[in-house]
Amino acid sequence: MMVSIGIDVGGTGLKAGAVSERGEILSKVSCPTLPERGFEAVVADMARLAVRAAEEAGAAMEEVRSVGIGIPGVHDPARNLVVRCVNLYWKDVPLIDEMHRYLSVPVYVDNDATVAGLAESVAGASRGMHSSVLITLGTGIGSAIIIDGRIYAGAHGCGGEMGHIITHAGGILCSCGHRGCWERYASASGLIRLGQEIAKRNPDGVIARKSGGNPEAIDARMVLDSAKEGDPDAMQAFETYTEELAIGLSSIVVALDPEMIVLGGGVAGAGEFLLQAVRKKIAEYAIFPDMPLPRIELAITGNDAGIIGAAHLGR
Ligand SMILES: [Zn+2]
Repeated sequence: MMVSIGIDVGGTGLKAGAVSERGEILSKVSCPTLPERGFEAVVADMARLAVRAAEEAGAAMEEVRSVGIGIPGVHDPARNLVVRCVNLYWKDVPLIDEMHRYLSVPVYVDNDATVAGLAESVAGASRGMHSSVLITLGTGIGSAIIIDGRIYAGAHGCGGEMGHIITHAGGILCSCGHRGCWERYASASGLIRLGQEIAKRNPDGVIARKSGGNPEAIDARMVLDSAKEGDPDAMQAFETYTEELAIGLSSIVVALDPEMIVLGGGVAGAGEFLLQAVRKKIAEYAIFPDMPLPRIELAITGNDAGIIGAAHLGR
């Protein structure tokens, strides 16, 4: 029985699993990342987890087709280096070479948003679609373009960084060093900022109360729940937020016209409430109102996305 191993690398935990040819997870193992140990120790644990994941799935190492790794950072395939992985303090780390000290199977590495996009296209919402785009709405905006079951990353591997489309020239400073990137407005951080502005303006309001009077305690969920409950301030913030979201999504529609856009990450937890607002606004921005628009759906692979997607990197 041939399997592929997927490894999901996070700042706090490492997760690995064996995945069948049909995309089913056959085993799951994990351990803490402890990145302050340095990358050699972390990679040694990753290799150990890969072996354990195969064992627990009843597969011999000869039956492991490949090991795929999803990292919260950037990998340069031309130089075979993880260029940057902020949470793990990695800079120019030879991850694949280091893995090959322990394992002789092919090892593939890609960004975690790309991996999540692949997972959705293999086993999730966009399964069977010719073209899809995954957008994750977390601290930033992650994205992946999948065409014909394959990741499209551009000529130099830098494509599909939708979060850094500039929607507000000269706007808020972004982690990339530029101003006005879409992710500063349409990520969970953008929604939190709107919530904080409301709490400051209206210290007796619903959002200020939910945060116990501490604007730093406001999270995306508080704003979304308050909007669902009908609080006028929160509804206004939600309206502004979904407008920001729809502006970026509409640019993606104009550029790519994918069959489906899948929304994941923390904000997507708002479910139908978010979908309905976004679908309506995207229709308003359509440049060809008589032509079909991409379906907008929620990601469904959840916590398993990292393992499933990474396992499919080599396929
Ligand atoms: Zn940016």
